[in-house]
Amino acid sequence: MAPRLRSVEQSSERPVVPAAASPAHAPGPGAAAWVRGLSRAFGSRVVLDHLDLAIAPGEFVALIGRSGSGKSTLLRALAGLDREVTGELSAPGPVSVAFQDPRLVPWKKVLANVALGLRIADPQTAARTALDEVGLTGRASAWPGTLSGGEAQRASLARALVREPRLLLLDEPFSALDALTRITMHRLVLRLWAAHRPAVLLVTHDVDEALALADRVLVLGEGRIAQSSPVTVPRPRDRDHPDLVALRLRLLTELGVPAGETDEL
Ligand code: ADP
Ligand code: MG
Repeated sequence: MAPRLRSVEQSSERPVVPAAASPAHAPGPGAAAWVRGLSRAFGSRVVLDHLDLAIAPGEFVALIGRSGSGKSTLLRALAGLDREVTGELSAPGPVSVAFQDPRLVPWKKVLANVALGLRIADPQTAARTALDEVGLTGRASAWPGTLSGGEAQRASLARALVREPRLLLLDEPFSALDALTRITMHRLVLRLWAAHRPAVLLVTHDVDEALALADRVLVLGEGRIAQSSPVTVPRPRDRDHPDLVALRLRLLTELGVPAGETDEL
């Protein structure tokens, strides 16, 4: 049978799966996003190979994997940015994405960047509220070029949040930030997540970031979800908690990285 693609735009239709009693973390109408048998190749290189995944509403999922393992490819598919994936996919929006590069339009001020493309009655007010939430009220009329890396990433988060996403896709949004700014951004993301409760898929190469933030950590390998580990330690998390120490070791082993050498993923 020919593989079937369900793009984000098409996903307001009911997915073609039995509706009966499907739990929110399983493929089905209750999930914030799900894919089944998702595949993507670039030429002869198969990057995603019949991958299955479901994300529950409000669940915070981190996706780790070696560089080139297909993390961004999966995220782009979920964002509806890749028309050439095959398989089944449902992400009944709104879906928002934030990338490592904040991608602000340089000739529009910060407020206008956040309000850009918003199809609601009062985009300016919504954008101001979002800037307030990320602590950028004072920079609303600044040009993007004058922002620090952390401020630009806050603006990017505000732009994602103002769309009130059911699914928030984050592709290594903090990896270009210095360590202290990154910790501040972790707290901000957790606060925003607690307030708005979107499902989150955070792509990161940083195992500690995944362990600090996520309800569940996925490892992508060989084009599939090679490991899925729940993280039940309450937040804020002590990175030395024995459960986290054990899970860190397990994840690093799965990634083939000796403990302490996480920078080169
Ligand atoms: P990750 O985000 O895990 O580092 P990517 O999903 O960006 O990995 O890429 C996975 C693989 O697919 C890499 O080998 C990359 O070179 C390849 N790839 C990604 N996008 C393209 C593209 N547009 N054309 C050709 N190859 C691509
Ligand atoms: Mg990537």
